[in-house]
Amino acid sequence: SIDIRALEKRFGNVRAVDDVSLTIEAGEFVALLGPSGSGKSTVLMSIAGFERPTAGKIIIDGVDCTTLPPNKRNIGMVFQHYTLFPHLSVADNVAFPLKMRGISRSERRRQAEAALETVRLAGYGDRMPKELSGGQQQRVALARAIVYRPRVLLMDEPLSALDKNLREEMQLEIKRLHSELGLTVVFVTHDQGEALTMADRIAILKAGKLQQVSPARELYERPSNLFAAGFIGEMN
Ligand code: ATP
Ligand code: MG
Repeated sequence: SIDIRALEKRFGNVRAVDDVSLTIEAGEFVALLGPSGSGKSTVLMSIAGFERPTAGKIIIDGVDCTTLPPNKRNIGMVFQHYTLFPHLSVADNVAFPLKMRGISRSERRRQAEAALETVRLAGYGDRMPKELSGGQQQRVALARAIVYRPRVLLMDEPLSALDKNLREEMQLEIKRLHSELGLTVVFVTHDQGEALTMADRIAILKAGKLQQVSPARELYERPSNLFAAGFIGEMN
């Protein structure tokens, strides 16, 4: 599980995340929904360890990770603006986190191939990123995020650059990975429909504060609850 306790992150005078507490159960899929600037990425980067909270704690599977560096947290992440290394082959991109962890070359090759197979890109290892479609590149980013078999997968608007058909295909792909690998997923999105169809629960952020956390099913059946959160209409 991921236990976010009274998380606060200030940048100077800006309170990007303001007293957010949320427990995400092992195996759960939670969507983090909110307008631009509401603190979604900052919450994710704090869970991953790329941002150090100014107050509060991040407990992962019972271990206080608040001050641990990212590579000690057993977390995979697909970043919002972080794409593949253009000068590295697909296989080297996928194997990169393993290299950071000091794993041998032959073992890296083997695990990268297995991860590429998981995202249905077996045989693409020797290509360069620019030789792939947008959706394929996003699948390589996914393979890189799961290559060391983390229990937790964090995704920051991973599908926002894709067209509608690809996006729907990738939504299914991510759901498949979630259940096949038994991952705990936190998925940031602007897109209510995406949150409703993919998540077990939806957490709504506004100006750094958690507005509500509800089962997606409940919101799906009573979309007026989303209006109640003052959310719809502020998105674009
Ligand atoms: P978007 O949907 O546009 O990606 P977001 O919900 O992910 O937005 P964050 O990136 O978490 O929002 O930003 C939350 C607030 O913190 C914003 O006001 C932003 O300007 C501020 N902020 C984020 N990162 C920094 C930083 N490194 N330095 C200063 N301010 C920052
Ligand atoms: Mg963001």
